[in-house]
Amino acid sequence: MEQFCQDKIFKIAIVGAGPSGIYCALNILKKFQERNFNNYFLTIFDKSQALRTLLVTGGGRCNITNSISDIKEFASNYPRGEKFLYSLFSRHFSFDSLDFFKSLGIDTYIQDDGRIFPKSNSAKDVKDKLLTALFRYKNVKLENKDIKDKKDLEKFDRIILACGSRGTQNLIKSFNQPFKPFKKALCALKIDNFIYPKGVSVNSLDGAFVFTNDGISGPLAFKLSSINVDKPFPYSISIRLFNIDDLYSLIKENPKKSIGNLVSKLIPKSLAFAIVDDYNKKCCEVSKEKLISYSVLNLDVISNSNLGEIVNSGGVELNSLDKNCKSKVSDNLWFCGEILDIDGFCGGFNLQNCWSSAYVVANDVVYSIINK
Ligand SMILES: Cc1cc2nc3c(=O)[nH]c(=O)nc-3n(C[C@H](O)[C@H](O)[C@H](O)COP(=O)(O)OP(=O)(O)OC[C@H]3O[C@@H](n4cnc5c(N)ncnc54)[C@H](O)[C@@H]3O)c2cc1C
Repeated sequence: MEQFCQDKIFKIAIVGAGPSGIYCALNILKKFQERNFNNYFLTIFDKSQALRTLLVTGGGRCNITNSISDIKEFASNYPRGEKFLYSLFSRHFSFDSLDFFKSLGIDTYIQDDGRIFPKSNSAKDVKDKLLTALFRYKNVKLENKDIKDKKDLEKFDRIILACGSRGTQNLIKSFNQPFKPFKKALCALKIDNFIYPKGVSVNSLDGAFVFTNDGISGPLAFKLSSINVDKPFPYSISIRLFNIDDLYSLIKENPKKSIGNLVSKLIPKSLAFAIVDDYNKKCCEVSKEKLISYSVLNLDVISNSNLGEIVNSGGVELNSLDKNCKSKVSDNLWFCGEILDIDGFCGGFNLQNCWSSAYVVANDVVYSIINK
């Protein structure tokens, strides 16, 4: 059992200077400062450059979070981790993160689709402001080091793994922490028998997507890859292209027009051309079953494509953690960010997982030291 001693300097390690690691560090530093506590030193390890992974987010604009204000509705955008997030969000939600960013000079705005971005539209600006804030504190250093296993962290009193989902299995294993293997969860899809018009964008009832050279990409494709992450290939997907009643109305108004002509009023012409048999047949001559079949695009997914790969599913099993993301297996060990078995759709959800889990971890780590 750890003995509290007034002169003891608590050594804290964060592995990973990505969004979750840096947010966790800033909150630890802030909380100690608010309590006038200086008997600690925080080392943040990264094998690469701090916040390198933030730079590519939101196409360089950094989709920081989402404007959905209801916690449950927000959490429904995570195919894995939804229930665990209720508890994290109840302690630190998007409003709290936005307040925190504002305090660092990062103002934000809401895009029409609910995604929230920095006013600067620059992930680099967010990175610079976070790192400037970090280096205002004294008891912290960033060290460029690849942490191979738990032995590299033996001298630390508190350990936070915030090292994401890429190449981190061995480190997690060295702590005997249960985890699910990582898998690509937001990526483009390769389609069997690809006969569709390349480069054409479609706004379907289920979401927007674009045909690539050999499949589909865009928000809907990413979402489908996430929902179906555990299905073996090949698997089938159905996309509702348009409301069949809209086609019936068009037919009523234009009974003599060709079916291809009318379908192409509801979807891009080149797609209508690819999927409508007898494009030039009069619509009144086409069976109801055929008409309905044109409103749904059934595709067979043969594999993920390398496009996208924005987040991985899998990670540290949530039932091996307490509600503060602290390990139930090893002492003084916490996890935050993408290393957790939590992943969301596109829209700022994955970064919000980073902010919320990092905050909760920071709080608990500070509490574990100050309340000794
Ligand atoms: C192209 C792209 C765009 C994205 N856009 C968005 C977006 O707009 N909005 C959104 O919400 N999400 C977005 N995401 C997802 C989001 O970026 C991630 O969920 C988030 O970066 C995870 O943060 P993290 O700190 O947990 O892990 P990471 O960002 O992966 O950071 C982990 C850090 O740990 C370091 N590290 C790893 N292992 C070790 C080790 N053994 N020793 C030392 N250091 C180590 C790595 O070098 C890295 O710096 C995007 C992802 C990608 C790939």
